[in-house]
Amino acid sequence: MRSPLRGATESAEQCSAVNDLLVAATIRPWVTTHDGLQPHLHFVPDSADVLSRVKAVTAGGLAFVVCWEGGARLGRCLRAACSRAYVDTSRNGRRRYCTARCGNTEAVLRHRSRHPGGKR
Ligand SMILES: [Zn+2]
Ligand SMILES: [Zn+2]
Repeated sequence: MRSPLRGATESAEQCSAVNDLLVAATIRPWVTTHDGLQPHLHFVPDSADVLSRVKAVTAGGLAFVVCWEGGARLGRCLRAACSRAYVDTSRNGRRRYCTARCGNTEAVLRHRSRHPGGKR
């Protein structure tokens, strides 16, 4: 089970990795109201190509996540066969798997290991 608060070293490493992404994505945030939308943030000019936009939005989004609750909401799925990262948007912040499917798969495996030879 992961700790609700990140250690200083882990947090610094997380911030450093995200800062590298922000630099690589050449983020220049600004607020816009284009197309009659409410004010919202853009990370690259609208004229930027799709790859640049994806890189910028990914880096910018990760920056928000690591600044939210000490970065504890950014997790990696605990299922051994899965390596997906996820953002925990649950109310209590105790999510441990990327999807309910991974969580259910692990629950079945735990059950079978406790009841070998039992009903499948
Ligand atoms: Zn927009
Ligand atoms: Zn998973």
